[in-house]
Amino acid sequence: MIRKPFIAGNWKMWGTRAQALAYCERLLELLPDPNRRRADVGVCAPFTALDVLVERLREREVRVAAQNLHQEENGAFTGEVSAPMLAEVGVDGVVLGHSERRQYNCETDRALQEKVPAALAAGIDPILCVGETEEEREAGETDRRLRHQIREDLERVEDERLADVVIAYEPIWAIGTGLTATPAQAQEAIAFVRALVGDRSEEAAARVRVLYGGSVKPENAAEIIAQPDVDGALVGGASLDPDSFARIIEAVPEP
Ligand code: PEP
Repeated sequence: MIRKPFIAGNWKMWGTRAQALAYCERLLELLPDPNRRRADVGVCAPFTALDVLVERLREREVRVAAQNLHQEENGAFTGEVSAPMLAEVGVDGVVLGHSERRQYNCETDRALQEKVPAALAAGIDPILCVGETEEEREAGETDRRLRHQIREDLERVEDERLADVVIAYEPIWAIGTGLTATPAQAQEAIAFVRALVGDRSEEAAARVRVLYGGSVKPENAAEIIAQPDVDGALVGGASLDPDSFARIIEAVPEP
């Protein structure tokens, strides 16, 4: 791994502006200075909290990400927000293809094919989520699902930009369930995702960050992040409390 691990908190649909302000204050008390951090840190939040987070966190080198965007720059898409709009607010990244959006908002691989390059074109790093259902894992179809998602979702990203995408392997059966992939399961799936990127570009495979997500907590973070191919974590529920999020960041092993 060339870059530091990346620990990103996904607030899901949590975080009024008042909660965001209080969160920033507490997180900044707990985080070491950026040059002493063993991990890069980010917070992925609803649109309405983004400007608060950018103002409070960016100068302390905490990255701020949105949780969705629309692939077009502007137009007749009521209720949507585009990549240039997010860039204007100053966000660094955007979560794309989260399983909750795939499940509840009909997010398709076809749409992701356009959303991922739209983020990159606006200077925003996509955090692309992929992962299998419980049924797929039990049927031995994890690799097939991951291959399909990686091929489809990254199809329109040039090889030179592949390493600018952060990929989060999030087995759906482990999200918000309290079930965590074992470190060995996380390692195996993430090595497979890296190899899929390597089918396009060996250089990108060496540089791309592939995170694990699914019920990461302070108690299990260290062992998962210590796996050779795991470049960090996307943390949902346990990131809503800044103390528990900071403990996960502290759990990142020494390089
Ligand atoms: C997530 O929302 O991306 C996630 C991994 O959630 P949790 O950590 O709660 O399983």
